[in-house]
Amino acid sequence: MHESFDWDSLTFSLTPTDTMYITTTEGDEPWMPGELQPYGDIPMSPAAGVLNYGQGLFEGMKAFRTSANRIVFFRPEENARRMQRGADRLKMPPVPESIFVDAVEQVVAANQHWVPPTGKGAMYVRPLLMGSGPVLGVKPAPSYTFLIYVTPVGPYFKGGMNAIDLLISEHHHRAAPGGSGGVKAIGNYAPGMKPSKEAKELGYAEVIYLDAETHSAIEEVGAANFFCIKDKVLYTPELTGTILPGITRDSIIQLARHQGYEVVEGNVLADFAVQADEAFCCGTAAVISPIGSITHNGVKSVYGGGTPGKITTELYNLLTGIQNETEEDVFGWLHPLP
Ligand SMILES: *Cc1c(COP(=O)(O)O)cnc(C)c1O
Repeated sequence: MHESFDWDSLTFSLTPTDTMYITTTEGDEPWMPGELQPYGDIPMSPAAGVLNYGQGLFEGMKAFRTSANRIVFFRPEENARRMQRGADRLKMPPVPESIFVDAVEQVVAANQHWVPPTGKGAMYVRPLLMGSGPVLGVKPAPSYTFLIYVTPVGPYFKGGMNAIDLLISEHHHRAAPGGSGGVKAIGNYAPGMKPSKEAKELGYAEVIYLDAETHSAIEEVGAANFFCIKDKVLYTPELTGTILPGITRDSIIQLARHQGYEVVEGNVLADFAVQADEAFCCGTAAVISPIGSITHNGVKSVYGGGTPGKITTELYNLLTGIQNETEEDVFGWLHPLP
């Protein structure tokens, strides 16, 4: 570990590390394992498919230095598979799971001293897949780049979980049926920046998007999945193609069922959600963020006095406990760095 680095100052932001991984493929050639090189800028054609038409995907996952003093990944195979589904949707050659996982291991091993001490955060791993070859007409690029960089990030909540205030977006939607909302396409994110910024200026932490067809059911919270809990039953929007299939979402569903809770994946109407007992959103970055209030059409609904709910806290402790190896990994989710 970097002895001189101030681990307590880490937030969720970019700290450049030493080494990145990169590999490219031309046309229909199979992917070949890539190589490590110093972290830095990459040369690219001004006509690259990703720059002109947004043919690109990203992933986000974490490696943890655990209390058992080893470095583990959390379900990296799921990120590999999700990127393959995204590649299919954006007409890019999917990176084989074995190359993806091997690349993740290599780049984290090469930057091991940047993995924060137990409890001080995690190493965030950011794979990218993009059409890097030049193309002028709107069509798939002639060549592709798969690269991974890593950066240490701090714990999302310093000094305990705090509940966030959210605003339902009345004028914007994140995804439409048949679109690309179900994959981590880079182009899905820029349109959310304006609504998100406007909500932040009004004092909210993020926006909640409703479905584009009926504008009545909750889909996602910015770039995180949504859950609410009523009478000890968990409700979360079902994966209909407009919702990003979060790996944290899937893990929480499995954990909650394992704890004996009923979990319903379905249509979660905003009118129902605002009357729930607890609500939270989830994703790799924050794991679980308790929701303190939701404002819809000027009406603010508060959950449990604005403090994190009991079941929300239970699930947060379990999931982070598994990731830190203080709870048993009952589902075999941890993938140790070889
Ligand atoms: C990445 C992402 C999530 C969370 O997925 P995790 O695999 O849990 O990190 C949720 N929604 C959107 C839109 C995302 O991009």
